[in-house]
Amino acid sequence: MSQDCLFCKIANKELPAEIIYEDENLVAFQDIHPQAPVHILLIPRKHIDRINNLSEDDAYLMGLLTLAARKLAVDKGIDKSGYRILMNCNAHAGQTVFHIHMHLLGGKPLPHLG
Ligand code: 5GP
Ligand code: ZN
Repeated sequence: MSQDCLFCKIANKELPAEIIYEDENLVAFQDIHPQAPVHILLIPRKHIDRINNLSEDDAYLMGLLTLAARKLAVDKGIDKSGYRILMNCNAHAGQTVFHIHMHLLGGKPLPHLG
């Protein structure tokens, strides 16, 4: 828990969010400014500010995050049509909240990257 972290506060129910799934390790909630019909954020309860600061100890947690995104894609019915999971790190990627989060996007064709 980081005192001034928006996403720690959401995970601890100190700030409201439309929570879709939670367990002892993770919380998933609706993005407040959705970029697609499905736009869910998945966060670890553990405060990690950016991907740069992940350690090998976090490998299992990151696997859980990915598997939870996969499960939510099925639940939302976008697994067949397709979806994107992504994480931004620092300025050039446009990271704005410094508690790592995975975006799950789908429900429409998404702009191709790269
Ligand atoms: P980033 O650009 O850091 O990868 O993504 C941050 C995401 O968090 C953005 O998509 C933004 O809409 C979302 N976001 C920012 N503040 C809030 C909030 O207070 N509640 C929710 N649910 N989403 C937020
Ligand atoms: Zn945090």
